[in-house]
Amino acid sequence: LHAHFSLIQRESGFISGLVCVLRDITEQQRIDQDRKQFVSNVSHELRTPLTSMRSYIEALTDGAWQDPELAPKFLKVTQDETDRMIRMINDLLTLSRMESGTQKMENELVNINELFNYVLNRFDMIIEKDDHPEKTYSIKRYFTKRDLWVELDTDRFTQVLDNIMNNAIKYSPDGGTITCRLYETRNKVIMSINDQGLGIPRKDLPHIFDRFYRVDKARSRKQGGTGLGLAISKEVVEALGGQLWAESIEGKGSTFYIALPYEPLAEEDLWDEV
Ligand code: ADP
Repeated sequence: LHAHFSLIQRESGFISGLVCVLRDITEQQRIDQDRKQFVSNVSHELRTPLTSMRSYIEALTDGAWQDPELAPKFLKVTQDETDRMIRMINDLLTLSRMESGTQKMENELVNINELFNYVLNRFDMIIEKDDHPEKTYSIKRYFTKRDLWVELDTDRFTQVLDNIMNNAIKYSPDGGTITCRLYETRNKVIMSINDQGLGIPRKDLPHIFDRFYRVDKARSRKQGGTGLGLAISKEVVEALGGQLWAESIEGKGSTFYIALPYEPLAEEDLWDEV
């Protein structure tokens, strides 16, 4: 509640009244504040790569374009930064579509064991195909033997798993093991992805799902991060009626958990195709 008092004062200096305005501004003020903060974040996030690109382009114009060693390097930086800005804008569009509800989920009944395995196989393939990988990793799977069927939007959910797996690799040391689990509780399917990476300090943990929040901005940026991956992932999982959270020990590693609503199939559902 916000109270604002004004004195009504005559020219003579005589005080003839008092006006008191009471308003419940907390909610509105919070929304305004969030919006201002968001616009300021977006501007800052775009200004940084643009400023850095301008200095590289300036250097090229000033003669570096003739230097056979420097020119390709400088061009590569501007290309990477452009790519990252495009990724950021696409992420922002996805977020805004999800918020406004224009991004509808296209849910279907999916075998989650297969989907999770498919995504992980893709990450195995990347590392197998690369002769000189920047970083190696190995993926361990601990999956329930029971086939679990869950209602979800395959494309969107694949993006969530990709984000979390990419982070697990990005924020892990070379040669780390990433352990993935899939199991069910009475009414939930739980997936977890654990890494042996740098971990997340306790004070940062509650914020990592916020837009643009990074523990180490410079590091995230260097690795092409936009700081939006987890914010999008959380929106998607919540739109599916689930939860996304993390546990972490600094210096030891992190575990990300996804819980999705799950109804075990009734016996007759398994037989209806005979
Ligand atoms: P980014 O593009 O920066 O990776 P995300 O939204 O995916 O953005 O993640 C937000 C931040 O959370 C990251 O910048 C990083 O500081 C932290 N983070 C996410 N995943 C991990 C992880 N597996 N280990 C350590 N830190 C992580």
